[in-house]
Amino acid sequence: MDMSREQVDTPAAGRVYPAHPAEVGGGLRIWRALPQRDLPTVGPWCFLDHFGPLAIGSGPGIRVGPHPHIGLQTVTWLIEGEVLHRDSLGFEQIIRPGQLNLMTAGRGIVHSEETPVPNGGRLHGLQLWAALPAADRGMEPGFVHHPRLPIHEAGDLAATVLVGRAFGLASPATLQAGAVGIDLALRGGGGHEVVLEPGFEHALVVVQGEASVDARALRPGEMLYLAPGRRALEIATQAPARALLVGGAPFGEPVLLWWNFVARSWDEIRAARQAWVDGTGFGTVRGYDGPVLVAPELEEGA
Ligand code: MN
Repeated sequence: MDMSREQVDTPAAGRVYPAHPAEVGGGLRIWRALPQRDLPTVGPWCFLDHFGPLAIGSGPGIRVGPHPHIGLQTVTWLIEGEVLHRDSLGFEQIIRPGQLNLMTAGRGIVHSEETPVPNGGRLHGLQLWAALPAADRGMEPGFVHHPRLPIHEAGDLAATVLVGRAFGLASPATLQAGAVGIDLALRGGGGHEVVLEPGFEHALVVVQGEASVDARALRPGEMLYLAPGRRALEIATQAPARALLVGGAPFGEPVLLWWNFVARSWDEIRAARQAWVDGTGFGTVRGYDGPVLVAPELEEGA
């Protein structure tokens, strides 16, 4: 047994999880860092997809037809490229690097996401889901596009506060559950301390290049989990690199993820699926040139 590895893999020191390869609409290959089998949530964050970087070429890029959500908030953040969002509230919005889309599903919303035409030919970004706390799960749906976010610059580090508070800065985007999300862009050549909220657990994914966190090398396709109790982390790079850090208080409610729904019970999922199949209660997306997504069958016993 490799004792040094065992000692490193304690909750306080952090644990590295492999992200899972997956596919989203348009045949786009992505890394899914959350959920993990034994780690369904980090704070309220219950889904963490990293797509690209890639050249779209003559391909479609992202093409995800209208589909419903309940019980969650989605955060979309691009490093390269552009994505066109449409939803059942009537919002139609192109998002570009440096901007953030926050969609609140609440009791129900439908949206589509696609690479607009024309486009810059590149795509690289992240989409995250955060579970809504019990008290907010029935709230009205909403969508907010944040064109500008606060940026903390120190030496070779530019840290964009996507969600919540960090570096003494507050993002205009906040999650119902309370949470933090930070984009860390490093030009390379040094280390930086990132102060953490000790009541939060955190996850860090490197999305470009390579970074060492607390002297541990991380690459795209891996996620470092840090249990609550940490007051800071040290991130260092030798060359340009980019990472996403997310966190929040341990969620404390069991979360049931099925398809695009974040629920608490199979009864709730069955009802939401049936409403989508019946075309009741979710509204419609206008302008998307393609079919809506078909809900998968519910498994026996669910
Ligand atoms: Mn969606």
